[in-house]
Amino acid sequence: ISSVELTLHYLDRISKYDPELNAYVTVTPELALEMAREADERLKNGTAGILTGIPVAHKDIFCTDGVKTSCSSKMLDNFIAPYDAHVVTLLKKAGMPILGKTNMDEFAMGSSSESSYYGPTKNPWDLNAVPGGSSGGAAAVIAANLAPMATGTDTGGSIRQPASFCGITGIKPTYGTVSRFGIIAYASSFDQAGPMTRSAEESAWMLNAMSEFDQRDSTCLEMERPDFAASLGDSLDGLKVGVPAEYFGEGLDPEVEKIVKDAIAEIEKLGATTVSVSLPNKDLAVPSYYVLAPAEASSNLSRYDGVRFGYRCENPADLQDLYKRSRAEGFGAEVKRRIMVGAYALSAGYYDAYYLKAQRLRRMVRDDFTNAFEQCDVIMGPVAPTPAFNIGEKTDDPTSMYLADLYTIPVNLGGFPGMSVPAGFAKGRPVGLHIVGPYFSEAKLLNIGHQFQ
Ligand code: GLN
Repeated sequence: ISSVELTLHYLDRISKYDPELNAYVTVTPELALEMAREADERLKNGTAGILTGIPVAHKDIFCTDGVKTSCSSKMLDNFIAPYDAHVVTLLKKAGMPILGKTNMDEFAMGSSSESSYYGPTKNPWDLNAVPGGSSGGAAAVIAANLAPMATGTDTGGSIRQPASFCGITGIKPTYGTVSRFGIIAYASSFDQAGPMTRSAEESAWMLNAMSEFDQRDSTCLEMERPDFAASLGDSLDGLKVGVPAEYFGEGLDPEVEKIVKDAIAEIEKLGATTVSVSLPNKDLAVPSYYVLAPAEASSNLSRYDGVRFGYRCENPADLQDLYKRSRAEGFGAEVKRRIMVGAYALSAGYYDAYYLKAQRLRRMVRDDFTNAFEQCDVIMGPVAPTPAFNIGEKTDDPTSMYLADLYTIPVNLGGFPGMSVPAGFAKGRPVGLHIVGPYFSEAKLLNIGHQFQ
């Protein structure tokens, strides 16, 4: 099968099923086919790599040259990116035709993809359910076979939680592994991009292609990346799995608990042993994150002022009015909430009480993991306390949405790699197993995921 045929197959499925799912913000058939023709040339002339000719869908947070890059916000509804994010450049080089841009929570703020300016994405397994978020569109296109591979970003769980909700595989690498250049910034000290695919093996191939030192991101690590696919076949004999008692307490859906425990038992059968570990500061993670992430967001989003690019209000009376109304009209409710919380936490009188304190909690949460990794190779637990919830179920109660991030957020606070692999179904909706490792353990996580699948 040629890349053009494969690309046409996906474009056809997109036109049939996406009107219902709303997983794409933009579909780029001409670009996809042009790139597929180039890929077919490479397949003929022997310059193809493992991903050449396989289409990809990019989360609409990645700048794509000449293509609308909206971050699912009215603010950027008219924004055509003038350059490619580094990840996009690398996956173009790998020869992956771009099918389009996927829907997400506005500016990646959310856990359900419902805060998108373009309306919610539906979960392909159950159209009443959310696909998770913020990379909900990406997870949905993989689950519904509207793309074979997709990119996502994870600031507090946005790759792993939608992967869990949609029954796909997603990995957030160690902070600094993938360049953030050209990824629209939400909370820069947390943001990290990663692959969203069906299998761990495909994620390994994609991560190989996506991660490379890039001097345009000052936090991108200047070091050799391993071949993330090289150890997929390794045995799990002797693997030490840490199981944190705190992650199986109150609030965890019993069906999810059973699926996760069964999955860990399955991994024991593959040669692993389990050890009980403790993450005593787990309750500090969500409050710390929901001060720090909005603080960084309030700074990052100050660039949307209606002047240089993005939405501008009609007939501003003066400069103040231009700023005020462009932001009031261009941002949705959740984004405004975060900007206000963040600006408050950073303001002179409250900086020490909120921002500085939250930084201290961040360190404590990270140290919990560092200590736990002295006793085990990886930590396993749930990705989210429940399977996908219903569309509309949490929209009136942002705090309940925030609290549901309790298992994913600590990993971002520490900058550790984390992965979700499909583990079962509860109430007809998928549930993932969360695997977290020490810095630079991506290859190990992918190895476990591959052996488990
Ligand atoms: N749900 C979290 C938030 O709303 C995480 C989102 C993300 O990882 N981008 O901030």
